[in-house]
Amino acid sequence: MPKQQTISELLEKGRPLLSVEFFPPKTAESIEPLVQAGKRISTCNPDFVSVTYGAGGSTRDLSATVSRRMKDEVGLQVMPHLTCVGSTQAELGEILDDFHNEGYRNIMALRGDPPQGQSDFQVTEGGFKYASDLVAFIKDRHPDICLGIAGYPEKHPEAESLKSDLDALKIKADAGGSFITTQLFFENAAYFEYVDQVRAHGINLPIIPGIMPVLALKQIKRITQLCQSELPRALESQLSEVESDPEAVRRVGVEWAMRQVEELIEKGAPGVHIYALNKAKSAIEIINAARNA
Ligand SMILES: Cc1cc2nc3c(=O)[nH]c(=O)nc-3n(C[C@H](O)[C@H](O)[C@H](O)COP(=O)(O)OP(=O)(O)OC[C@H]3O[C@@H](n4cnc5c(N)ncnc54)[C@H](O)[C@@H]3O)c2cc1C
Repeated sequence: MPKQQTISELLEKGRPLLSVEFFPPKTAESIEPLVQAGKRISTCNPDFVSVTYGAGGSTRDLSATVSRRMKDEVGLQVMPHLTCVGSTQAELGEILDDFHNEGYRNIMALRGDPPQGQSDFQVTEGGFKYASDLVAFIKDRHPDICLGIAGYPEKHPEAESLKSDLDALKIKADAGGSFITTQLFFENAAYFEYVDQVRAHGINLPIIPGIMPVLALKQIKRITQLCQSELPRALESQLSEVESDPEAVRRVGVEWAMRQVEELIEKGAPGVHIYALNKAKSAIEIINAARNA
C-alpha cells in the first residue's frame, strides 16, 4: 500500500496531475466490477482517484468500501469525498477519524446534493449548512489532511450570481481549502474565465478542471441539466449524428475530452480530474493521450 501523499505535495512537483473520479455502486454486488475498473485504470498510473460520497447508511458504507479497496487492494492514492448531508457534527467527526486512522490524507469536502426525493438541501440538526463549515471543522480536527473544495465555472445552480458564488468560494478557501476541483464544463473558455475571476477574488489555490467524457447523449443531457453546465451545440450535434451507435458516441465524447485536456494542460492547468462515470476505457485513453501530448 503506497503512503498516501497529499495532493498539495503532488501539485508542488509542478507536473500536471491526472486523476479519475469513481462513484459508489448502488449495491454491494456491484463493487467487484468497480474494483476491476480501478485495477485497469491503475495500469496508466493516475496521480490519484477520488470516490464520491452519497448520504444515507448503505451508500455511505459502499463509498468507504470502494475507497478502502482502491487504496489497499489496487494500491491507488485515494481521496474520499465527504458531505454534510444527513450527518451531525459528531457523526462527521467519527467518519473523519476513521478516514484518518485508515491513512487517508486528502478529502474532498462538500456540502452535498439533496438526497433523492428532496428538492432542497436540508441542514441536519447539529450538522453543517455550508461546505466551508465542514472545511473549518476538518482543519481543526485533522490539520494534516489536505482539502479539496468544489468550484463552479458556470456558477453553482443555487447561487444568485457568479459574484455571490465566488464570495462563498473565498470563505471556503479561507476556511482551509487546499485546492479547487471544478464542476464539469465542455468549453475551456469557461474554465479560463473562471480562473481569472477566482484570482480577482483574491483566491490563489490551484484550480483543477473537471472533465467528463460523454458516454451517452441522453445521460449527458440529464447531467448537464442537473448541474446547469452548458452542452455546446457543436458537441450535441456530433453526438446526435451517431446516437444509434454507442461506440461512436463514446468516441465523439473521448475525442472532445482529449481536445479539452490537451489545451487545458498546454495553457497551464495544474492537472485534470476525469469524471469517468466508472468506466475505465475512456479514462485510460484520455490519460495516455495527455501523457503523450
Ligand atoms: C468536484 C465535485 C465533487 C463533488 N462530489 C460530490 C459527492 O461526493 N457527493 C455529493 O453529494 N455531491 C458532490 N458534488 C456536488 C455538490 O455536493 C453540490 O454541487 C452541492 O450542491 C454544493 O456543494 P458545495 O460543496 O459546492 O457547497 P457550498 O460551497 O456550501 O455551496 C452551496 C451553495 O451555497 C452557497 N454558499 C456557500 N457558502 C455560503 C455562505 N457562507 N453564505 C451564503 N451562501 C453560501 C454557494 O454559493 C452555493 O450556491 C460534487 C461537486 C463537485 C464540483
